[in-house]
Formats: sequence, structure tokens, C-alpha cells
Amino acid sequence: MRNSLLILFSCFLVSFGCYADRVIVKEIRLWSDPEKTRFVFDLSGPPDYEAFPVSNPDRYVVDIKNSDFEKNLKLPVLKKSPVSKIRKAKKDDNTNVRIVFDLNAKVSPKNFVLTPFNQYGNRLVVDLYNSQRMEATKIKVAVKESSSNMRDAIIAIDAGHGGEDPGAIGPRNQLEKNVVLSISKKLAEFVDDEPGFRSKLIRKGDYYVGLRKRIEIARENKADILLSLHADAFKTANVRGASVFAISDRGSTSEEARWLAENQNQTDLIGGMGEYVKIDTKSEPLVRNVLLDLAFGYSQRESLEMGAQVLKELKKVTKLHKEKVEQAGFMVLKAPEVPSILVEVGFISNPKEAYNLSDARHQRKIAKSIFRGVKNYIYDRPPDGSYVAWLKEGSRDVRVHVIEKGDTLSELSLRYRVSLEAIKKFNSVRGDTIKIGQKLRIPAS
Ligand SMILES: [Zn+2]
Repeated sequence: MRNSLLILFSCFLVSFGCYADRVIVKEIRLWSDPEKTRFVFDLSGPPDYEAFPVSNPDRYVVDIKNSDFEKNLKLPVLKKSPVSKIRKAKKDDNTNVRIVFDLNAKVSPKNFVLTPFNQYGNRLVVDLYNSQRMEATKIKVAVKESSSNMRDAIIAIDAGHGGEDPGAIGPRNQLEKNVVLSISKKLAEFVDDEPGFRSKLIRKGDYYVGLRKRIEIARENKADILLSLHADAFKTANVRGASVFAISDRGSTSEEARWLAENQNQTDLIGGMGEYVKIDTKSEPLVRNVLLDLAFGYSQRESLEMGAQVLKELKKVTKLHKEKVEQAGFMVLKAPEVPSILVEVGFISNPKEAYNLSDARHQRKIAKSIFRGVKNYIYDRPPDGSYVAWLKEGSRDVRVHVIEKGDTLSELSLRYRVSLEAIKKFNSVRGDTIKIGQKLRIPAS
């Protein structure tokens, strides 16, 4: 009697224990970026799991032991994804769960777990890399490189955060990641409308890009400068204004700048980089290398110069939080040879600024002023071989030709020994139409 009671009691404990330790799949989120489709499982505890591919037909299977689904768990809606369908099932007497991704394209999967950080608990991340698309982007880059005659100045624009990482959150749930993406896209339009300038958006949608990867994308695209856009947050709602940061090789200019850099550098932990990136700013190989240190000093000076130009323009459209360019060890600014600044476009924690920052007209104003500052900087220090450098050089010895009847652009190009492209660019002529009486400036050949 005594024994059987004990057994009954311990059984109760065991089953209760099992139930309590059960990992609940609370939510499955989907993020798509140009390289991969990411599924993030929100879990009630660390998972004991297995993930493996199955062929005929192609599937990717995730089994989580001793687990269950949250009641009414909704599966994410799939759009343009290598996954045609997601299915969920319970197995082994309802003690384990299985999630199956039906595939319609070849993928290379990677998966890892993330421990609780900030707003997130335990997460399991399944990344399905699309191998075909990766090849396509490589080819595109190669083609661009071959046409570098009077090349454009390339402005890499990095919208901070994205995907799993919302960044700072405003009083009406305005998300930093969305605000800065909108401003970045508008900024890219201003850049692309300007002769001799071309934009490269580091992130084009709502997905997370690792900090290292952001720099890599800028370098792969031969960026001349890098702009990283963010919105600030502070515990007191009345703090407001824009600020500009440059990298520092010697610590931060203020306690606030140091705090901000530390905070931004943690974004990989929220965004979900898993084992891909280990953040350790002290042992950054890029910074320790002596040769690179020289380049780093160069880009620091350049960054401060560019930052000052951008602040000057921002001041015309918004209040400034700091009048001078601040410095701190931001990871995303650590591309040694690329002058880079981080622009905090305002405080999303301030109700009025959060409202303004979500407004398309204000976003355009901010974007335009950042662009003006960048343009002034590029015109002051044009990159080698760029159209702007050529324009400044050519302006010294310019002739004017008044169009007469019968003149054509190609004939003028031959007569003045200046390429057709150069005449068109110099006069911002699109197409081949010129008018009688029109004055064309002919640059030095
Ligand atoms: Zn941010």
C-alpha cells in the first residue's frame, strides 16, 4: 500500500514535470530577404530538436522533442518563397511536434537556436538559403564592374535593424526599422536622380542583415561612402533632435555616444545572427591590423568631414540633438576605407518626432537634406575616376557651343573629340534631342 502510493505519487510528479517542461511553439514568423527565407520559432524554453531534409518530394523537417503547439497557432503566410506549404503535426502520442516545409526550389538550410535576449525568449531559427538567387546577384556585380568609365559615386544606404529586430519603438508603436527603411528608399531616389551618383540599398525590405554583412555588401558594390540610418530612443519623452555619428578608434566622445554604440552593436543578437557572428569589438581583426589602422584614420577624418556637411543640411529641416558630429565605436561603421556615418534622424520616443518621422513629407525632407550634405561632401572630395571628379576637372576648360540647324550630338562629339556620353552627362541631356539655339557646354577632351 505504502509502496504503491509512493509509485503513484512519483508518477504524478514525473508526468507533471514532463508537462511543465514541455516546449511550447508559440509563434512562427517568416522573413524573406534576397538570399534566404527565414523562419523563427518562438519557444517557451530551449528546444531539443532535429532538423533534416527529406527528398521525393523535397521537404525540410523540424522535429521538436517533448513539445506542443500553442492553441490556435497560426502558420505564416507564404509569398514568393522556396516553400510551397508548411504543415504541422503532433507525433509519438502527442509528445513531440513536427513541422514540415514542402519545397518547390533547391535550398541549402541552416538552423540554430538563440537564447533569450531583450524582448525575445528562446528562439529556433531555420534559414533556407536559395542557391540559385545567390548566383544571380554575383553575375550582376561582375557586369557592373566592367563599365567604370566616368563612374558614378556609389552611396551605400543602410536602413538599420529589420526583420526580427524592430529597433526602437515609438509611443504609437512606430517601428524604427520601418521609419528608416522609408527614409532610406527616398534617399536612394534622390541619389539616383543626380547625375554621377548611384545608390545601393543594403536592405530593401523587412528582413535582418548582420552588421558584418552590411559592410560586406557596401564593399562588394564598391561603395564610396556608407550611410547608416537610425532613429533614437530615450526614456524621457521630451528629448528630441537628429544627430550624426562617425566611427572612433579611441573610444567615445560622450557617455551617451558610448551607450548608443554598445546598444546598436547588440542588434545582431536581436536580429538573429546566431553562430554566424560573434560580437567582440576588442578583438576586431579589422581594427587591430596596423596597415588598416592607417586607412581607418583616413576614413575617420573623411567621415567627420562628411558628417559635418550632413549636419549642416539636417539643421535646416529639423532640430538637432547634437550640434557636432559625435564619435563612438559603431560596428556598422567599421569599413576601414569607406567613409561612413550613422545618422539618427530623430527620437522615435518623442511623440511629435515619432509622428513626423512616420510622415512621408517629413521623411522626404530628411532624405533630401542628408543627400544635400552627401552631395556637398562628394563635390568637395570627388572619388578617383568618378564623374564628379571629371566634371570638376573638365569645368576648368569648358567651351560653349550654340546648336545650329543640322547639328547632331554624334557629329559634335566627333568635332570636339569628346565622347558622346561625356557631352550628354555634362549637360544632363537625356536621349538624343537637342534644340536649335540651345547652348551646350563642351568639356575638355
Ligand atoms: Zn537603431
